[in-house]
Amino acid sequence: MLQKVTGIVIRTVNYGESNKVVTLFTEELGKVAMMARGAKKPGSRFHASSQPFVEGVYIFPFSRGLAQLKSSDVVTSFPEIRKDVERMAYAMYWLELVDRSVEDRVQNRPLFRILQDALQALNAGMDADVITHHFELRMLHLLGVSPVLTGCVRCGDVTDPMYFSVTSGGFLCAKHQEEGAVRLSERLAKLLYLMSKHELSEFRNVPLSDESRILLRQLFDAYMESYSGLRLKTKRVLDQMIRLHLNED
Ligand SMILES: [Zn+2]
Repeated sequence: MLQKVTGIVIRTVNYGESNKVVTLFTEELGKVAMMARGAKKPGSRFHASSQPFVEGVYIFPFSRGLAQLKSSDVVTSFPEIRKDVERMAYAMYWLELVDRSVEDRVQNRPLFRILQDALQALNAGMDADVITHHFELRMLHLLGVSPVLTGCVRCGDVTDPMYFSVTSGGFLCAKHQEEGAVRLSERLAKLLYLMSKHELSEFRNVPLSDESRILLRQLFDAYMESYSGLRLKTKRVLDQMIRLHLNED
């Protein structure tokens, strides 16, 4: 029995001289790994479809063990992301987040859409930090450790000014704020709340000041580190790239 899936390549590992084990996150089956014979060779029929964050249609015979890729067609390679090393670093971070957060062969169509939307938005030139934080919120939700962004963690109050506390797991009001909590502007608190509720497309034209960008990054880094339990290689690469970029400016 042949299986046909639409998937995004989330990881590749070289195998032997010319093969690759390609891990896809698919719409139909969730995460599936398969052997792509010859994929390392530039002339191979699997070469293009076995690159990170390519979206394609993949056909393979049903197997309990490692599937053998039989045929594949690239739907999109997200060329605008591939042209820019910094954008690529963001995309690679999202892929690793998905890879490390889901089990094999557990269908999760909403997450497939979220990853697909994020890559499409990045390819279209949307702000990579906005996409990333939106994505991180979705991943935290999936892991069951969403921050409380509807109001103060302790009393539900929504009166400005709001604070964000990693230790308490979300917003705190002025009365309950504690050491280590970061004061947020009204706009930033609202943005965080809206990002947790709405689809990515709603944030296409959200301008971020450098100050907000840095603050959001610090909050998310600290929160992800405390609650996700993940330490990601791709995140360190992305951080180095962002630092280089800041030094250049
Ligand atoms: Zn409170």
